[in-house]
Amino acid sequence: MSNRSRTQIAIIGAGPAGLLLGQLLHVYGIETVILERKSRDYVLGRIRAGVLEQGTVGLLDEAGVAARLHSQGIVHHGIELVFGGARHRIDMKEATGKAVTIYGQTEVTRDLMDARDKAGLTTVYEAEGVSLHDLDGDRPRVRYTEAGVTHEVACDFIAGCDGSHGISRQSVSPAAITTFARTYPFGWLGILSETPPVAPELIYANHARGFALCSMRSYTRSRYYIQCAADDRVDDWTDDRFWDELKRRIDQEAIDHLVTGPSIEKSIAPLRSFVAEPMRFGRLFLAGDAAHIVPPTGAKGLNLAASDVHYLARALREYYAEKSSAGIDDYSRRALTRVWKAERFSWWMTSILHRFPDTDAFSARIQIAELNYLVGSRAAATALSENYVGPPF
Ligand SMILES: Cc1cc2nc3c(=O)[nH]c(=O)nc-3n(C[C@H](O)[C@H](O)[C@H](O)COP(=O)(O)OP(=O)(O)OC[C@H]3O[C@@H](n4cnc5c(N)ncnc54)[C@H](O)[C@@H]3O)c2cc1C
Repeated sequence: MSNRSRTQIAIIGAGPAGLLLGQLLHVYGIETVILERKSRDYVLGRIRAGVLEQGTVGLLDEAGVAARLHSQGIVHHGIELVFGGARHRIDMKEATGKAVTIYGQTEVTRDLMDARDKAGLTTVYEAEGVSLHDLDGDRPRVRYTEAGVTHEVACDFIAGCDGSHGISRQSVSPAAITTFARTYPFGWLGILSETPPVAPELIYANHARGFALCSMRSYTRSRYYIQCAADDRVDDWTDDRFWDELKRRIDQEAIDHLVTGPSIEKSIAPLRSFVAEPMRFGRLFLAGDAAHIVPPTGAKGLNLAASDVHYLARALREYYAEKSSAGIDDYSRRALTRVWKAERFSWWMTSILHRFPDTDAFSARIQIAELNYLVGSRAAATALSENYVGPPF
């Protein structure tokens, strides 16, 4: 072995989960090394989530990385629902006293990377062939290759924050894991454009031609999505075809205000629900997409990664500061309780807003009835709002 080193926590993956965990643990005085398979620029180039729950913002505050978020993020107090050609607002602030903040995942990632650099903490990008060893003993180890040289990091614990296709979950015997999954029979075609948002808040549309979402990343950058066939390819969709289809699914006021422009990113995301239980295996903890996936309808993926990290960081602080294993022993149960709430909400939002292959006239009417109930009942609007702004950690 060419290079051996030691740290307290080896973190696999420099997505939001791994970077936020690293930063919080740094604040708590716990040492970490992060191993990331891709380059820094590749990680920063991935266009993904953009809606942050208040709890996530609080955690970024605690990690000391929220200055830019507070100056550039856009606070939203409500969302709009379009169905039957009309638009209705859900006032989340009135219902819950809470709000969400629009700030792109790429920006969260950049702030966390910058803070890690400033603190002089170790992140190995383009770490190849990461492998996990001795998860059941007291001295787990992680191996990787960098520029042809093999390295070994000994540690107390490993945090598997390496997303749904990472190595961490795959390193556990399949017999030790129970998985729960649902694949939805459609995808989301998304485009990012340098155009002002069509409305001050997000618009979620239920339409006979399929779901649409008008979202944003800033006052000058918009993100739009339309439900598409699961086997559609990005090349099938010119920008003009996308804008025409979006206009068919939104209300007249939105059509009148829509500013179109060339896409600067265009991609299709499959929709999937997935949970792996438990989230701890000996000295390995899973956090974020490594343990669970939600369809993006409820804007929960990044926020769930943050809540996992909240539980895990506190549990590890308790372990080192108080010599207590109570927090780490309870991590999986606590995280999964919140995960399943978000899984339910994301599944439900997906169910009421999309056209499924078996959506017949009856189920389309039931969707409209449910949406009418949401906008007409304070109790129903509160239930949606509580979930959208995020249950407490
Ligand atoms: C295409 C797409 C669009 C999305 N859109 C939205 C959205 O609109 N709204 C929303 O709320 N959520 C969205 N999500 C979900 C959200 O982005 C994720 O929930 C969030 O990124 C989870 O963070 P994470 O750190 O757990 O995982 P990730 O962001 O996936 O980070 C995992 C990291 O681990 C690295 N890695 C993987 N394997 C290895 C390995 N073997 N060794 C070392 N490193 C490894 C990866 O390169 C990656 O950097 C989207 C997800 C995808 C894939």
